[in-house]
Amino acid sequence: MKKWFFLSAALLLTLSVGCSQPAEETSATKEKKTTFITIGTGGITGVYYPTGGAIARIVNKKREEYGIRATVESTGGSVFNVNAIMAGDLEFGIVQSDRQFQAVNGLKEWEYKPQKDLRAVFSIHPESVTLLAAVDSGIKSISDLKGKRVNIGNPGSGQRGNAIDALEAAGISWQKDLKAESVKAAEAPGLLQDERIDAFFYTVGHPSGAFKEATSGRRKTQFVSITETDALVQKYPYYAKSYIPKGLYPGATNTQDTPTFGVKATFCTSAKVSDQVVYAMVKEIFENFEEFKKLHPAYQVLTKKSMLEGLSAPIHPGAMMYYKEAGLMK
Ligand code: GLU
Repeated sequence: MKKWFFLSAALLLTLSVGCSQPAEETSATKEKKTTFITIGTGGITGVYYPTGGAIARIVNKKREEYGIRATVESTGGSVFNVNAIMAGDLEFGIVQSDRQFQAVNGLKEWEYKPQKDLRAVFSIHPESVTLLAAVDSGIKSISDLKGKRVNIGNPGSGQRGNAIDALEAAGISWQKDLKAESVKAAEAPGLLQDERIDAFFYTVGHPSGAFKEATSGRRKTQFVSITETDALVQKYPYYAKSYIPKGLYPGATNTQDTPTFGVKATFCTSAKVSDQVVYAMVKEIFENFEEFKKLHPAYQVLTKKSMLEGLSAPIHPGAMMYYKEAGLMK
């Protein structure tokens, strides 16, 4: 399909250059139509935003060849991105692997409404469900959150569902036992430093601007372990144990790694986006993999193989075309 597309495009170009045609017609044929695509990300202090930027940067380098112009949008996060892709407002979006699973299977926010046209492209960095608390709040474990002011995330975010799962696993109701806030992750560090909240949850890759900001203020902070994860990991296929490495945020008081659980960031699109566009995006990221990996420290652990794991929506045919060609999939 793709080969046919490029061959015929090349043929058309050769023919049009070869024949003597009226001047305007020739330049019209030569001028490639630009396809504009927008990538939905998250808050600007997260890792999705620079990730969208990294993908756009690599793809835009080949603008002449593919005629694709990618731009990035800061959004409310995973749930927002799925819905905007499905509505046709975004062509691509970064989505937590658990949210991809829920959307495709009609669960949680999409209960009884499976998003049949959602397509997986590849997965990216691991994300940890991260709980940061002010030291003066006395919060040392998740059960200490009872009665505290805790940001669990805005409704369009991925982390809100993870915070609720973590709280429920510890026997805490976010509606009854907490003073739950629902603000965007980008606002939480400021609220914590201003003593307007005691702790906040954010599911994000590390290091992130949000935790750099939250841990480097006057108010001392610490990452809180989430250890009630056995049941969660058993119950949900998309959760795995993870940890926040010590030393990533020198401002935090932790002297050990912080155990928790996590998911993966994934790159998603719609079945309605063309094979040519998805193929070009995937090809450029995979063929410039070492360059891509250097664009954020959260990508250190990536391998091409790991980027094909954690996908639950059908893989977009344009992406599949590349994976087969590159021998990454059969
Ligand atoms: N995982 C978050 C979400 O889905 C976003 C994290 C980020 O922006 O890096 O809402």
